[in-house]
Amino acid sequence: MSNIQIPQSMLPEDGRFGSGPTKIREAQMQALNDAFPSVIGTSHRQSPVKLIVASLREGLPQFFSLPDGYEIALGNGGASAFWEIACANLISRKAACGVYGSFTKKFAKSIETAPFLEKPAIFECEPGDYRLPEFTEYADSYCWAHNETSTGVAAPVQRVEGSERQNALTIIDATSGAGALPIDISQTDAYYFSPQKAFGAEGGLWVSVLSPAAIERAYHIEESASLPGAARWIPPFLSLTSALENSRKNQTLNTPALATLILMDNQVKYLNEQGGLQWATERCKRSASILYRWAEQSEYASPFVTNPEARSNAVVTVDLDESVSDNAVLAALRDNGIVDVNSYRKLGRNQLRIGVFPSVEPSDVRALTECIDYVVEHL
Ligand SMILES: *Cc1c(COP(=O)(O)O)cnc(C)c1O
Repeated sequence: MSNIQIPQSMLPEDGRFGSGPTKIREAQMQALNDAFPSVIGTSHRQSPVKLIVASLREGLPQFFSLPDGYEIALGNGGASAFWEIACANLISRKAACGVYGSFTKKFAKSIETAPFLEKPAIFECEPGDYRLPEFTEYADSYCWAHNETSTGVAAPVQRVEGSERQNALTIIDATSGAGALPIDISQTDAYYFSPQKAFGAEGGLWVSVLSPAAIERAYHIEESASLPGAARWIPPFLSLTSALENSRKNQTLNTPALATLILMDNQVKYLNEQGGLQWATERCKRSASILYRWAEQSEYASPFVTNPEARSNAVVTVDLDESVSDNAVLAALRDNGIVDVNSYRKLGRNQLRIGVFPSVEPSDVRALTECIDYVVEHL
């Protein structure tokens, strides 16, 4: 125990500021409760569950204003599974990757170790900024992350110049960016994410917005992989065409967690009712600005991301002066019900990392800054 008691009146209404899993709203839990016993504990091949998948497959296109021909696919395994799906089904031979933190690095590593792909071209920078992949000869896929959750860096999403002439795909890890940051989906071919970040659901699922070019590529690769002597292996569990064909029937290849689907569906409906992507991104921007402004004016805190253009409005990272230990601050906050503002461990900094996804109230973010100031004063 830290023995610091923050006055009740200063505390946020909700103390969950994680970067994933994130705050789940009470109405989502109500939806989960309402699904008992009609949905929870019933078959995912029957209409009660299929209706939820159908509702998601209607709500997400509305939310992202999908261009004609784009489709929603989903399956089990989270964004991490989609990395392997992209290796097996979307990258033909050679990818070019932007690497600027743990998540972008992990995907590049998957590509590097896929025995049937060439070594990817890596465009890397130190954590704290972004680096986009540049035009690469013979590249057929360009990969980077909308939001690097490990560092609080957001990157622009726009096709690499010249990539269209190559018929290259733009494959974007949108796990913590989707639903929190503005996006023009027509600039992407696979915009994939997990539901436990901006969509405030449980983990376990991946969702991908696929362009007609990505869908065509997946079928083409599947066909060539089935030829005798083909080097490529598409494990059936990682088949993107199966995932897509199941999604079209409002199902998943294998059994999904129904709670995840219910929580996510409720969130997509909520976001659409509030004003959709524009409402969500403006709200996240407002929350993030409160933190960046507070850190800039603070005597002991400063934004980790110095380039204002690279600062994320979904995950905000704030470095602390060495005289203030992040562990002591984290412990005191946790004792007072404020949780999960620890930095990404592998980054190894004296830092707080705050998730400001759409479910978080900007007024709670304001309260959080006051609570951190209170704790630091009383350490
Ligand atoms: C959280 C996260 C992942 C991993 O998601 P899982 O659902 O745990 O597989 C991948 N990429 C980014 C950018 C993330 O934030």
